Amino acid sequence: MSTASTGVANNRSFILRKIAHCDCDCFYASIEVRDNPALRGKPVAVGGNAERRGVLTTCNYEARPFGVHSAMPTAQALRLCPELIVLPVDMPKYRQASTEIRNIMLDYSDQLEPLSLDEAYLDLSDSPHFSGSATRIAERIRQRVYKEVGITISAGVAPNKFLAKVASDWQKPDGLTVIRPEQVATFVKQLPVKRIPGVGPVTAAKLQRMGVQDCADLQQCSMTELSHSFGRFGARLYELCRGLDDRPVSSSRERKSLSVEHTLSEDLPDLSACEAYLPALTEELVQRLARQKSWAPIHKLFVKLRFNDFSRTTAECLSDSVDNAKASELLLTAWQRKSRPVRLLGVGVRFRSQELEQLDLFAHGSGLHSEL
Ligand SMILES: [Mg+2]
Repeated sequence: MSTASTGVANNRSFILRKIAHCDCDCFYASIEVRDNPALRGKPVAVGGNAERRGVLTTCNYEARPFGVHSAMPTAQALRLCPELIVLPVDMPKYRQASTEIRNIMLDYSDQLEPLSLDEAYLDLSDSPHFSGSATRIAERIRQRVYKEVGITISAGVAPNKFLAKVASDWQKPDGLTVIRPEQVATFVKQLPVKRIPGVGPVTAAKLQRMGVQDCADLQQCSMTELSHSFGRFGARLYELCRGLDDRPVSSSRERKSLSVEHTLSEDLPDLSACEAYLPALTEELVQRLARQKSWAPIHKLFVKLRFNDFSRTTAECLSDSVDNAKASELLLTAWQRKSRPVRLLGVGVRFRSQELEQLDLFAHGSGLHSEL
């Protein structure tokens, strides 16, 4: 193994790996510009229709100086940037590009963990390519994605997932940032806490009130202090601010859930309107499940709501099928938490994980033991 164990915090040692995090630059928008060169240099976004209360899923770098960003309502983005070109989402096209990009990465390591269509971790610790240089592999992946897929992808290379993810974002777009093990201590000291994945505006504001701006400040906080203020995430912050993270790249391709959700063009005013809408969703979910025969067994059913104040809630229960009566009960439970008009309604299932499946086999004393 080319891995070495060096990092230490609280008497715990951490494995150092060679991890690359690759993240396409404004993926959907880049694909659209690639396919229509007349859009090059213009502010372009991909997302829902303004009249139907759509939101942007992506916008390109030309749109950002106007204050436009992803997850912004399309209508608001168009007010900020009237010349913004908003294109509809074309998932089949993005999925195709995503598969091509993953196949390029898989040429260098099969330890691939996709986070979304345009983003993945790659463990290169034991890759034989380029004499084991993760930096050169990442550079080659970037060149190939540009040449073969026609878009730019940024990459970060570091001894763990946390730092690789921070690094890929460091010189976006079209950048490569490498953090070597001997640079970690210096790098994290100047790292603003809001760059730590998982630190959102609320946590960042709370840290600010504690006088914490960057990881050097955070390192002054004791484990007890951080756990007290942030619960379990506090213990994680204690490690992250020292550049320590030992989560492995998990290459299991297992799908964990499948859901169908609709953002309504007009709010559903009350519970009975939601109830009337629910069968259309469960029907669609059943059809999608039927098309995908390879799923693991269904384990749970859930109903998801977003109210007209943008708060969201999910209710779930054990179930081995898409059961309409259970879905109605879940809807009731979820709706009563706020009892107000609903703008998004969703229903989905969670699948039993393969590991659970195997534990079950052993627990039930199935005769399969002898064959394993
Ligand atoms: Mg991206």
